[in-house]
Amino acid sequence: MTEDKRTCAQSVREITGRMRRERDISLQELGLLLATKDREGISYLAAQAREETRRIYGNDVYIRGLIEFTNYCRNDCYYCGIRRSSSGVQRYRLTQDEILSCCEAGYGLGFRTFVLQGGEDLYFTDDRICALVSAIKDRYPDCAVTLSIGERPRESYRAFRRAGADRYLLRHETADGEHYRHLHPPELSCAERIRCLRDLKECGFQTGCGFMAGSPGQTVETLYKDLQLIRELSPEMVGIGPFIPQKDTPFGKEPAGTLDLTLRLLSIIRLLHPRVLLPATTALGTIHPGGREMGILAGANVVMPNLSPVSVREKYMLYDNKICTGDEAAECLSGLRERIEGIGYRIAAVRGDYPAEADES
Ligand code: SAH
Repeated sequence: MTEDKRTCAQSVREITGRMRRERDISLQELGLLLATKDREGISYLAAQAREETRRIYGNDVYIRGLIEFTNYCRNDCYYCGIRRSSSGVQRYRLTQDEILSCCEAGYGLGFRTFVLQGGEDLYFTDDRICALVSAIKDRYPDCAVTLSIGERPRESYRAFRRAGADRYLLRHETADGEHYRHLHPPELSCAERIRCLRDLKECGFQTGCGFMAGSPGQTVETLYKDLQLIRELSPEMVGIGPFIPQKDTPFGKEPAGTLDLTLRLLSIIRLLHPRVLLPATTALGTIHPGGREMGILAGANVVMPNLSPVSVREKYMLYDNKICTGDEAAECLSGLRERIEGIGYRIAAVRGDYPAEADES
């Protein structure tokens, strides 16, 4: 080993050790971890993150049943395949009955969390969302309901909570104002997105923020701001997946985020925030066939198989080549279960809430 390589290997280990002990990282250290070619150091980073996950969650991987219930969207985010101006998209909305059927199938398969995700579709008024949430909670009182339907006024979030929703996913996308403007049209702002996240926390949601790894314009500096925001907000969940271009969007020709970058970020976030619920996303499984398993081996502890009816799957194309669009939920789950068991973990048929602090020691 050359002198140079040894110093580098030590630094990755040192930074990893300090992150684990002190739950802290500097901008310079982040730059080093993301740029290093030291594979051994990066395996060490992943192994440490994995150990932290095991300490808190053991071998359990939590599952969330994702129901993509509408692809209508009033927003025009430059990266997203279901943005308002994508005229090639066949728009759909599931009825309440259809959504309940997805839950029924999911419940039978062992799902105890349902995630209702959609574009920002104002057909789904607060009243309709509340009715939907109560209907699910009535039938499945032992299940958690997660909403992922974008930005709404605080009063709406309050109403959703009152109706029984437990969790809310709203990726912040980037904590840097200028980068935010690069990814979104002028009517959307980073400040408003963060306002929503603070309101969600205040309303008592288990709240998830997050971002795409390798989004156009992302730098070490913007990523560092993401980590600072995560520290400040203390979310229960952080969703990170690679950016993947969708050919009809303004970013259709941009390069995808890499597997390697996504895995490193997962490990870093696990070490900085040991208890956080961290999914190995569908996007990660899309850029590499073993991506989600690798995500788990890098410190993720959640997977979110698709429960949407197969008839609409292809219409919820946030990005190109999304996996599992042809499979029934049961097939998706059994394939995933096998692969997760293959790496020494097991899928837990539980709600999988954020663990209390006492459980951490
Ligand atoms: N309307 C909801 C749900 C958005 S879709 C909301 O605003 O929160 C969920 C996530 O998919 C987004 O937050 C974004 O980070 C991710 N996403 C969108 N387009 C993507 C792409 N091209 N590649 C990877 N992830 C993408």
